[in-house]
Amino acid sequence: MNLAAGTEAGPPPAILLPKPERLFRQRARRLRDLAASVPGLSGYLLLMAELAERQADIVDAPASDRSTCTDWRRAAEDNPVGALRRSLALTAVLKALVQDFEASSAPVNQTLARIVGASDADVETWVIELRMDQPAPEDSAVLPFVAAALQIELVRWAAERSAENPGDPTEPGLCPVCLGGPVASILRTVGDTPGLRYLHCGFCASEWPYPRIQCIQCGSGEHIAYQGIEGADPAIRAETCDACHVYLKRIDRDKSPGADPLADDIATLSLDVLLNEQGYQRFGFNPLMIIPVGA
Ligand SMILES: [Zn+2]
Ligand SMILES: [Zn+2]
Repeated sequence: MNLAAGTEAGPPPAILLPKPERLFRQRARRLRDLAASVPGLSGYLLLMAELAERQADIVDAPASDRSTCTDWRRAAEDNPVGALRRSLALTAVLKALVQDFEASSAPVNQTLARIVGASDADVETWVIELRMDQPAPEDSAVLPFVAAALQIELVRWAAERSAENPGDPTEPGLCPVCLGGPVASILRTVGDTPGLRYLHCGFCASEWPYPRIQCIQCGSGEHIAYQGIEGADPAIRAETCDACHVYLKRIDRDKSPGADPLADDIATLSLDVLLNEQGYQRFGFNPLMIIPVGA
């Protein structure tokens, strides 16, 4: 993350921008560690680890191999559907991402074959489903791969923004850089100040500040509680709101420096099950974990 502007002089920067050259390798490492400690989800965690390693390899590729970047924030503001049509270079990134990818599971290989045979129009439809947070049930297996390609584009693009002035303010629950939704919130030290709360964008990995002990949906701070899973990493908890019954996971990176919002969110799926049973609705959107509606 870009901490340069806030280490010694003055307050921490409002926005923390991603470092693409580290982000995907660190995520891959975390996914592999979590696969060892959460055996029930190890198959999916290892699949996502392989995908994150492929994302890192593409990010490391020479600049001449890069596709043309869309202005993603303007795209989302102007006309999410129309502007996303400009992102069709994404088809090439997506196909590079799954090239020679052989999974040990037949259903995953069927998904990969579907991606290899996809047209620009298919990719456009999938990107719109992701960015509008309206996944079609029949596309739920494809979408994490499409999201991984989109993350490559968006993280590169976000890394080139200015942390001081990424764009006009938006509503607090949306990423000010690309207008994506948050996966989770992060508690972290910035400069000398520990325990600052940021929201983490599931698409471009930028982080923006949000007050502590305040519901992401209704803004109430009066009915907040925290829940975790017995025996799991105590740095990962869910902030629940009894005013509107939503929750958002919170990762204390000061306690668990290797934690990754997307990886740790997948690995704590049992916390979602527990909270759903208690009547809480999930607010965070993790594009690497698309659960079909009604599943
Ligand atoms: Zn974003
Ligand atoms: Zn609330």
